[in-house]
Amino acid sequence: MTEDINVQEKKLLSSQPQIISLLSRLALNPPSSLILEGGEAEERLALSKYLLKKLNCNDAPNGPCLECTVCTKIDADVFRDLFLLDPQDGLSVDHIRELRPILAQKPRHRWRMIVIAGSGDLNIPCANALLKSVEEPVSRNCFIFLAAQREHLVPTLISRSFVLTLARRPWTASDQESEELYREFSGFVVTGRGFMDSTSGKNFLSLNQARQFLTRIQNELAGAQRGEQSPFMNLAPQSWYRMNKVLHTAFYALSCRVRIDLVLQWLALTFWQIRRTN
Ligand SMILES: [Zn+2]
Repeated sequence: MTEDINVQEKKLLSSQPQIISLLSRLALNPPSSLILEGGEAEERLALSKYLLKKLNCNDAPNGPCLECTVCTKIDADVFRDLFLLDPQDGLSVDHIRELRPILAQKPRHRWRMIVIAGSGDLNIPCANALLKSVEEPVSRNCFIFLAAQREHLVPTLISRSFVLTLARRPWTASDQESEELYREFSGFVVTGRGFMDSTSGKNFLSLNQARQFLTRIQNELAGAQRGEQSPFMNLAPQSWYRMNKVLHTAFYALSCRVRIDLVLQWLALTFWQIRRTN
């Protein structure tokens, strides 16, 4: 059984080699709050557990060995310093408050981890209650918020957290139209030509597809910052920063139901201007 978990987990972890190396470095001095965004939900959870093992494995600092009692307990969700919370399981403010006295004590092992899966579904009172716990000056507690993208979290949580973006998912073949659209978008960012004609006046994407499209661009930007081939590579950090802010506004506009073609055209035009003045 344990072997099955290990094989499955190794497969998941091997798809995110850069995050593994970043997490290993973070383990030397873990932040009190970390956001893992991007990738798949199961990857985000597996990576949180990887960090917890790295921090507590009996073979530290070389581990995680994936075989000691600590590693196997973490895999089986019975490690006493691992708290798994999920808004979809009916997480309430009372529940978070009840945890506080426990979190105020020293962990049984070296580090305690509180993982909030599906953080994008947190309501404001729960997010604020968690934020209060994050800000308690208790060392050796590490909160990890898992979300498809950071924009789903309240800004105060984002500003107090270290954010890691998982490598992008490969675009599925059935999304050929979106792929074509992305090619036109990135072409426009470089040349200032094309994209507007193919988007004008049409509501060609559903809201969900439009969000996915923006997420794709966000992942490309993150990739460019890691040195991957992309139309956004070799830009000044200030330009990436501006593009991320513009993307953030585009996500917000979508959530306010601004017409999708207008949002994408505005995004393309603004990216083109930022790239031109880079
Ligand atoms: Zn171990």
